[in-house]
Amino acid sequence: MNNKIRVIVSGAGGRMGKEVVKLVLQDEELELAAAIDRSSKDIDAGRLVGLEECGVIVSSDLEAALANAAGDVMVDFTTPQSVYANTALAVKYGVRPVIGTTGFTPEQIAELDKQCKEQGIGGLIAPNFSIGAILLMRFAAQASKYFPHLEIIEYHGDQKLDAPSGTAIKTAEMISEVRQELRQGNPEEEETIEGSRGGYYNGFRIHSVRLPGVFAQEEVVFGGYGQSLKIRHDSYERAGYMPGVKMGVQKVMEYTGMIYGFEHFIE
Ligand code: NAP
Repeated sequence: MNNKIRVIVSGAGGRMGKEVVKLVLQDEELELAAAIDRSSKDIDAGRLVGLEECGVIVSSDLEAALANAAGDVMVDFTTPQSVYANTALAVKYGVRPVIGTTGFTPEQIAELDKQCKEQGIGGLIAPNFSIGAILLMRFAAQASKYFPHLEIIEYHGDQKLDAPSGTAIKTAEMISEVRQELRQGNPEEEETIEGSRGGYYNGFRIHSVRLPGVFAQEEVVFGGYGQSLKIRHDSYERAGYMPGVKMGVQKVMEYTGMIYGFEHFIE
């Protein structure tokens, strides 16, 4: 009997999508059900990622794949503009979404949770599949109890579409759950150049740096009397996210409802 989890990869021709296709093709517990991409269609998915032919031809029709490819899970790394519709479509067809694309609003996540529960399937939206980044968020939340004055600085490549990063937003949310309410800085403060102080979130600031050559980094800087603390995580390549993606694909088979944040799977 074939107990492999059948995975539909949405955004298969993208930088993250190609890593996911490689993961699925090379992992004995996973099977590629379909590979969806707008611009690389009609080529073999194995060839697309530099491996041997696998017999799955890349297509541009996500809905047809969700309806006909007998997928258990859809992994999506596309764009903030397309991901909500892709996720809702997967849920509609009973295919469990594992979403790495960032850019959801809290209202969208709540709506998808409702839809997953109605369908009796699990889903995962994970702004960051990296264990190091999850630990940064945890440590930062812990530190904010003792150092409530903080700023988040995140660094990504200059072609990233959304700002701040989903990881920075998640970090801010986790900090806000435990940090005492406090509006930092001088109440009389004025920006002479608009945006200089970064984005405002629950009393503290988030800064998004966008530069070519940068992959993904985040630091949380805490200031106290006579001391400061910095917690920083650096990601160097996309393959580093794949153990997290695999864990997400396996876990999502086991529960009902939409989970937001990979940290829920890490003890
Ligand atoms: P990318 O290389 O630009 O790939 C994006 C893919 O999405 C491409 O295959 C693109 O196809 C496709 N696409 C674009 N618009 C689409 C649409 N309207 N409908 C369907 N597909 C569409 O981007 P990436 O670096 O792989 O990143 C993808 C997403 O993952 C981003 O949101 C990024 O922030 C996020 N990300 C998350 C994590 C995590 O751990 N959760 C890690 C890294 C990145 P075409 O080329 O045909 O347009």
